Amino acid sequence: MPEVSSSPAKASATDAKTSKSAPQKAMERLGLLRDIDLALHLPLRYEDETRLTPVRLAREGDTVQCEGIVTECRIEQRGRRQLIVRIEDEAGDELLLRFIHFYPSHQKTCGVGQRLRVRGELRGGFFGREMVHPSFRAVDEDTPLAQSLTPVYPTSASLPQAYLRKAVAAGLRRADLAELLPPGSVPRQLPALREALDFLHHPPPRLGLAQLEDHSHPAWQRLKFEELLAQQLSQLQAQRERARLKAPALCARPGGLHEQLLAALPFGLTGAQQRVAEEIAQNLARPQPMHRLLQGDVGAGKTVVAALAAAVAIDAGWQCALMAPTEILAEQHFRKLVGWLEPLGLKVAWLTGSVKGKARQKMIDAVADGSAQLVIGTHAVIEDKVSFKKLGLAIIDEQHRFGVAQRLALRKKLASQALEPHLLMMSATPIPRTLAMTYFADLDVSTIDELPPGRTPIVTKVFADEKRLNVIERIRDEVGDKGAQVYWVCPLIEESETLDLKNATETYAELSAALPGRLVGLLHGRMPPAEKAAVMAQFSAGAMSVLVATTVIEVGVDVPNASLMVIEHAERFGLSQLHQLRGRVGRGAKASVCVLLYTGPLSPTGKDRLRAMAETNDGFEIARRDLDIRGPGEFMGSRQSGAELLRFADLQEDAPLLKAARELAPRLLDQHPDAARRQVERWLGGKAEFLKA
Ligand code: ADP
Ligand code: MG
Repeated sequence: MPEVSSSPAKASATDAKTSKSAPQKAMERLGLLRDIDLALHLPLRYEDETRLTPVRLAREGDTVQCEGIVTECRIEQRGRRQLIVRIEDEAGDELLLRFIHFYPSHQKTCGVGQRLRVRGELRGGFFGREMVHPSFRAVDEDTPLAQSLTPVYPTSASLPQAYLRKAVAAGLRRADLAELLPPGSVPRQLPALREALDFLHHPPPRLGLAQLEDHSHPAWQRLKFEELLAQQLSQLQAQRERARLKAPALCARPGGLHEQLLAALPFGLTGAQQRVAEEIAQNLARPQPMHRLLQGDVGAGKTVVAALAAAVAIDAGWQCALMAPTEILAEQHFRKLVGWLEPLGLKVAWLTGSVKGKARQKMIDAVADGSAQLVIGTHAVIEDKVSFKKLGLAIIDEQHRFGVAQRLALRKKLASQALEPHLLMMSATPIPRTLAMTYFADLDVSTIDELPPGRTPIVTKVFADEKRLNVIERIRDEVGDKGAQVYWVCPLIEESETLDLKNATETYAELSAALPGRLVGLLHGRMPPAEKAAVMAQFSAGAMSVLVATTVIEVGVDVPNASLMVIEHAERFGLSQLHQLRGRVGRGAKASVCVLLYTGPLSPTGKDRLRAMAETNDGFEIARRDLDIRGPGEFMGSRQSGAELLRFADLQEDAPLLKAARELAPRLLDQHPDAARRQVERWLGGKAEFLKA
């Protein structure tokens, strides 16, 4: 990871990097840069050091603070070396302290006659009441108790709790927490921000901790409201900025290209495809940039809808770009779209990392002079060297695979003309409605909720890896008599690409040996693109029976004859990833099967994921369960959008606060624009940009 660079003001004559302590660096990595960031870094839980519990009254299993005089301190040699300290409290009750790890200094602190204040979990041991590894310190008779509960903050290994506590306390003192919201606008008389934060960092003693820890206390409510408001405000700002932008109005002409394409297709559109195509056409016809997500389950037929949108744009005299996350996927789009559009007289350009030298220059020139009407490719499409003559529509497939910066870059490809292109994003990972509403206030969503006719549902089976040989047996039957084609997917092990490859190559060898006379192929991410394309071509043409692949086939691969998929180490995949993979089969008329092989023991969430896969084929249901299992932040992925910006509020639980924030946001922005700006700055700092992409 790159170091967070320090601001110029902080960088003195000495090298800023070396002059920073490890805890300081750790704080930067946690995003604790400004006073306000520290003030908004809230405790995970609290420790009660405000009172002393007589040993006699403490119950087993309670975490308590006791005080007493040391009556014995010795090292015991039974089994492991241990330091045993015995103390006696005011009432004469004894407590044993047991340390398995200790330093000579411990012994010094715990000398006989010394008064100790200890805090830990009470256990009833063989030798009486005891604490194992309590926190402890030497005190006097009149050492005061803590005045408030002691906060325990989320932290990292290189950032000691005590250091962070001091930093947060200082940040909290210095931070500007002036009330920004007009009187009467905060719901339910929640406390002022300063008051709420002081309270949450240092709650008074004898408070019911439950309310604090489940975040239902009014002080917590205030924080969540603030956070939701900042998020709503920044979205509203982004929405208003976008509304001021201009885009070319692309009107579908009767008898135009898109009608010609429709007439030439080998199939008719489903009702859902017709509906979304119409929604998109209406959007393109307006002089404001479209910002639309087209979602539909794997295999729902998004590509043809994208092609129709492209036809409208090109017919109106503009260029269209289609960007896909992988070369394989881009190539499939290229083949399909060339097949559909070139007969209509359109010129389609192909731009990926593997197009090099003269060929590349030729493509770049064709894009620049406008002779290429449609450009299909990978990230290469947004490189600096590529500039469009008249980009009217940008389409991003599998949009969740791209970062915000890349989406912005694609939109900027038309900046020179004071116009923005229309943007169509496609995804097979449906976003549940509540999330769509909150994270993308101004994103329009079109949904294909119907599969093309003639598909047979996929049957999913879950087996332990011990059944592997039976599965291979089954494959032999399928590819032999029935001429079926099979995907065998090996997991991507993120820490080790080599291990990943080993896994795939071993399986490849195993299957090749088990299926004599059948062509087995191997496809992985690090193969040269030409080799990948050759393997894919053999599989697509039906010459290859089994394709062993890492997750490179996750998105977009379309071979209707493939009817069996095996995913090994299925427990290592995420739920939506499994669903994406499974969508590679079940594309033809053949009944398809997906076998999930797992290696135990399974974690509870691993079990939930595999069960969900076996129980449903419905992408929306899968997305809902994924959300349940992972929670919204992770579901969206931090690159996605403003997802990471919600730290405290929970969209479902805090629906009433969200409603209040949605109502207040436009009023604040109109009547108190300065307060609105400061509110966003306070909460989001530089991250607000993310919400605009
Ligand atoms: P996805 O939504 O996952 O991108 P595709 O666009 O790749 O799905 O479509 C999956 C397959 O279904 C393709 O082979 C496509 O040609 C075919 N298809 C799309 N729409 C229809 C339709 N209305 N009728 C029949 N087949 C269709
Ligand atoms: Mg697709």
